[in-house]
Amino acid sequence: MMTAVREVSVFGDAIAYFNEAAELLDLEPGIRRLLTRPSRQIIFSIPFQRDNGELEVFTGYRVQYNFARGPAKGGIRYHPGVTLDEVTALAFWMTWKCAVVDLPFGGGKGGVTCDPTTLSKGELERITRRYAAELVEVVGPDKDVPAPDVGTTPQIMAWFMDTYSMHVRQHVPGVVTGKPLEIGGSRGRVEATGRGVSLVALAQMRRMGIDPQGAWIVVQGFGNVGSVAAKMFVDAGSVVVAVSDVTGAYYKESGLDIPGAIAYAQEHHSLDGYRGGEKVTNEALLELPCDVLVPAALEKQLTVANAPNVRARLIVEGANGPTTPEADHIFNRRGIVVIPDIVANAGGVTVSYFEWAQDRAGYFWKESEVNERLADVMLENFAKVSELATLRGVPLRTAAYMVAIDRVVQSMKTRGVYA
Ligand code: NAD
Repeated sequence: MMTAVREVSVFGDAIAYFNEAAELLDLEPGIRRLLTRPSRQIIFSIPFQRDNGELEVFTGYRVQYNFARGPAKGGIRYHPGVTLDEVTALAFWMTWKCAVVDLPFGGGKGGVTCDPTTLSKGELERITRRYAAELVEVVGPDKDVPAPDVGTTPQIMAWFMDTYSMHVRQHVPGVVTGKPLEIGGSRGRVEATGRGVSLVALAQMRRMGIDPQGAWIVVQGFGNVGSVAAKMFVDAGSVVVAVSDVTGAYYKESGLDIPGAIAYAQEHHSLDGYRGGEKVTNEALLELPCDVLVPAALEKQLTVANAPNVRARLIVEGANGPTTPEADHIFNRRGIVVIPDIVANAGGVTVSYFEWAQDRAGYFWKESEVNERLADVMLENFAKVSELATLRGVPLRTAAYMVAIDRVVQSMKTRGVYA
């Protein structure tokens, strides 16, 4: 029997990959039943006062998908499109993302249906404090550890941490990650996702016989993830031939000046007007000939419409869900290797784990230590995924889900199901 939540699209799509891997793992029906339902979904009202004194009410969510391996872990999204279905799908993904890089966390996600671009700083602060206050009993360093996601920032995490600490009457920096450095954030957190993307990409390039020196790279999205990944590729001797952001794509066959583009984007808040390369469309960017394509902007960018025209040898998913399942099948058929999002962009949650560990110990690491441990975690677990993919003759995505699901199931079985 299907549950109501499974009939809705986002979570439904998410479950497709899980089912494929679960089949190969020969998971028994009871375990499958358990893993395709969230542990806990919370919906609540967030009353807050507008700057003009008017009382407004938004809806907040927190989904704690699975706790088998530890406290739930996952971001908080402030976006007009936030729904229970979307938050559930994101919490489901976090469960596998944390497990595939072997972090001692389950999966969670939260959100508020709102448009943060229309809210003042004071309104955002009041919404965040009420959101945190509503969750005081169910979050905490040993229960559920939120982090930033679309539309939320380190400042929002700071307000969350402060509100929680006020309620429990003690200083609890480990209740959220992605905080500013001065209140218990980790060095290296900002760069961690882009750094992780390039680490696994370079490892896979070597495996495929693509020399990083001079390899052609195309990056879609020039925000936190895309710009850091692009810079890391340049540091490895690769040639970034094109990058894009919401204003368009910029192409130069001999290679763009990435530090220059980063400085430009910082100064102008986007690449709009950037003259360091020829302007092309975002659609054209995805079909440029290259060794490695890194979608690092939005979901559902690689679809049945453009997958047949993609000319990359390797796709590394910096963004969450940039490839539709149909496009994924086309890439598999065409022999284009895809490093899936749950592995490729797990660098962020890995350094979030380091932040949580540092907060609990009250002892903070040097940036070089953070980066070294990040590389250890990413490369060791990516190697496990690659080995399984080879052994079972399956794509990296299927292998990644298999590694993750197997870890969660082992933890569940060892603890025993309280049923
Ligand atoms: P960001 O907001 O810093 O950057 C997003 C970039 O994408 C911007 O340059 C924006 O202009 C660009 N963009 C938006 N629409 C576009 C379009 N139609 N075509 C081309 N570019 C477009 O966000 P981010 O933190 O870099 O996140 C990017 C992706 O990575 C998201 O899917 C996010 O969920 C995922 N991700 C981020 C992290 C993290 O730690 N930041 C961790 C895991 C996954």
